[in-house]
Amino acid sequence: MAKRDYYEVLGVAKNATADELKKAYRKLALQYHPDRNPGDKEAEEKFKEAAEAYDVLSNPEKKARYDQFGHAAFEGGAGGYGGGGMNMNDIFSQFGDIFSDFFGGGGFGGFGGFSGGGRSGRSRGVPRGSNLRIKVKLTLEEIEKGCDKKVKVAKYVTCKTCGGTGARNNNYETCPHCHGSGVVTEVRRTILGQMQTQSVCPHCGGEGRIIKDKCHDCNGDGIVRAEEVISISIPAGVADGMQLSLSGKGNAAPRGGVPGDLIVQIEELPHEQFERQETNLYYNAFVTFAQAAMGASIEIPTLSGKVKVKIEAGTPSGKVLRLKGKGLPDVNGYMRGDLLVAVNVWVPKNLSREERDLLSKLDRSPNFQPNPSKAERGFFDKMKDMFN
Ligand SMILES: [Zn+2]
Ligand SMILES: [Zn+2]
Repeated sequence: MAKRDYYEVLGVAKNATADELKKAYRKLALQYHPDRNPGDKEAEEKFKEAAEAYDVLSNPEKKARYDQFGHAAFEGGAGGYGGGGMNMNDIFSQFGDIFSDFFGGGGFGGFGGFSGGGRSGRSRGVPRGSNLRIKVKLTLEEIEKGCDKKVKVAKYVTCKTCGGTGARNNNYETCPHCHGSGVVTEVRRTILGQMQTQSVCPHCGGEGRIIKDKCHDCNGDGIVRAEEVISISIPAGVADGMQLSLSGKGNAAPRGGVPGDLIVQIEELPHEQFERQETNLYYNAFVTFAQAAMGASIEIPTLSGKVKVKIEAGTPSGKVLRLKGKGLPDVNGYMRGDLLVAVNVWVPKNLSREERDLLSKLDRSPNFQPNPSKAERGFFDKMKDMFN
């Protein structure tokens, strides 16, 4: 597959500043982050592609070479990406700090694994607790301000009786199988001569000792089932389906290992009045024909209370008003969305005889005959209005 131009990958100009490059990369990295796209190979490729482009363009020397020679600058030679490009570990160790401030601290370990070397810290010998997944339901009001949620979670916790060792009264004996070394050596005869292999002692699991007297409360596991109340601080601006990862808040590991993570998935509850699209909110306002024709001041709800909005005289049905900054904050905290108010002229469904007579009179009046301007006739202009 032909490599894409690095500037094109990041969507930046050739003279982009370091800041612009970083921002562009960060945006892509968050979008294609493996924790947001589990099992999605294409996203993973995009994630790597963006990292590679950023790696080159953010380094003045590499950038100069790339500007002169293009991708050929890195083929074959040292520091090249001839084969499979950057691998995940490189990306997290080099650019981990780009993700680390993603949630502005607040106690999150980032988006599960955003915290740099988090992935590589799991060595084979130490048991690791499994991750726990929960869903947290949030209203738009909670999302707008950010909130703290207390959640009761059923999980494995460290056994208090034995302190997680699994042994009653600290009663151990040296493993008779490996004599305390935790490894067993196997000698095999092959056609190439003797081969020695070492492996973790299956008898003690590599601990070198075995429990003589098991703790009665946890049956030697060092962990027990319990309910724990966990406080989760949710940053403002999260969206449905986003995942937050609380490092170490998952299941405790057997016998003193590393606890797993608590993965919190955000579920956004539908709102009675607003529709959300990213950081923008949409609201349908209804006015009477008289209000639309003569102008009026109407009350519009927002997530933080009602505001007065002026309807100009002669406002056509379908006109969209934009209330700047009355939408949701961006989860990165850089900007705020708007509240878009569609003005709908209410047409009554039932009319009394008297209303009919009045309307018929008005209907003959010259000003009531449709006479749209060119802009009003144009469907596309109207659509453009809605999104500008
Ligand atoms: Zn115990
Ligand atoms: Zn052993």
